[in-house]
Amino acid sequence: MIPYGRQEINQADIDAVVSVLESDFLTQGPQVPRFEQSVAAHVGAKHALAVNSATSALHIACLALGLGKGDWLWTSPITFVASANCGLYCGAKVDFVDIDPHTYNLCPKALETKLERAERQGRLPKVVVAVHLCGQPCDMQSLHLLSNRYGFKLIEDASHAIGAKYQGEFVGNSCYSDITVFSFHPVKIITTAEGGMAVTNDQYLAERMNLLRSHGVTRDSELMTHEADGPWYYQQVELGFNYRMTELQAALGTSQMTRLDEYVARRNTLAARYDNLLSELPLTTPWQHPDSYSGRHLYVIRLHLDRLKVSHREVFESLREQGIGVNLHYIPVHSQPYYQTMGFNKDDFPEAEQYYSEAISVPLFHTMTKCQQDEVVNALKNALGDT
Ligand SMILES: *Cc1c(COP(=O)(O)O)cnc(C)c1O
Repeated sequence: MIPYGRQEINQADIDAVVSVLESDFLTQGPQVPRFEQSVAAHVGAKHALAVNSATSALHIACLALGLGKGDWLWTSPITFVASANCGLYCGAKVDFVDIDPHTYNLCPKALETKLERAERQGRLPKVVVAVHLCGQPCDMQSLHLLSNRYGFKLIEDASHAIGAKYQGEFVGNSCYSDITVFSFHPVKIITTAEGGMAVTNDQYLAERMNLLRSHGVTRDSELMTHEADGPWYYQQVELGFNYRMTELQAALGTSQMTRLDEYVARRNTLAARYDNLLSELPLTTPWQHPDSYSGRHLYVIRLHLDRLKVSHREVFESLREQGIGVNLHYIPVHSQPYYQTMGFNKDDFPEAEQYYSEAISVPLFHTMTKCQQDEVVNALKNALGDT
C-alpha cells in the first residue's frame, strides 16, 4: 500500500533522540527551548511554546485569548475536528463558515456575510480559527481586516502549513493573527511523533500559554500573587494542564527542522508533477493562490462526477483495492454525530458538502518516488474508467 503520507526518520534524527536518552533530562531540559527557538527563528515569530499536540496548542491558545462560556468560536467545516473541539473544551459554542470553492479554505466573503448577520443578532464570535487546508494559506489579510472591524481574535491552524509562505513570508510570523499553531503528528510535514507548537508575537499570550501548558504553576515571582515563602516555592495561579512536550520529541523536532525547507520544496515538486500527469483527467487539481507557497501537506483532487460512469465511493474503493492509500480530508465537522446534536443541518454549508462529495486525497510525502507517483496516476486512470 502506498500511504497518503508518511514521515522520514534519518540517522541524524535517531542520534539526536538517543543522545537525549543518555542525558540527564527526559523532560523539562534544554531540548524543548532549543526546538522552540529553532521554529520561532525559522517562521519569524517572537515566542514559541512547544506542547504535546496541536490539539493542546489550540486549546491553550483559545484559553489565552479569553474564550469561555457564552462565547462563540467559528471555523471552517472542512478541517480536522480539533480545530472546532478546542472551542468546546473552553465551554464556548462552535459555528462554521463555508469554504471558498477554489482554495477550500474558510471563505472571507462568507465570513463577512455571517458577521454582518451575527452583529445584528448580538452573537459575534470571540475567536475565528483559520485553517490552512492542505498547506495553502488562508486569505489572512482579508480575515485580519474583518477581525479588526468586528473585534474577534484570529488563530491560524497551520497544522498543514509549516514551511508554507503567505505574501512571501513564512506562515507563523503571525503578522495577521494572534496565534499560529503547528502539528508534528507523523503524517504532517515534520514530526516529533506526537507534538505541537503555538507561536505568537504577543508576550502576554505567550506567558499565558506557558502557564496553561504546565498546570498553571509558576516559579516566576513576577507572576505570583504574593511573596514567595522561600526558595522551594511555586504558585498555582491558573487551572492549567500537563501539555508539555518531552525532550526526546523536541530533539527529534530540532533535527527535522533542518530539513523543513527541503521537504516543502520536494512536496511542491511532486505536486507540480501530479498537476501535469492529471491535467487531462476528469478531475480538478488543487488551485493555488498566486500570493501563496503551499506547504503541500495534502494533494486533494475533486472528481467531475457528471463526466464519470462511476461514483465517488467506487473510485475511492478501487484505489484502495489497487494498493493506493487514499483518504478523504475531511468529513465536514458539522455533519459528525457529535456536532449533529448541536442542531446543524446537512445543507448549512453547501460548498463544504459539495467538496466532500467529490474530494480524494492521493498520496504525497517527501520520500515518494516518481515511480510510486506513476503508480498512483495509473491506478487513478484505471479507477475512473471510461468517461
Ligand atoms: C492534525 C491536525 C490537528 C491536530 O493535530 P494533533 O497534533 O494530532 O493534535 C489539528 N488541526 C488540523 C487541521 C490537523 O490537520
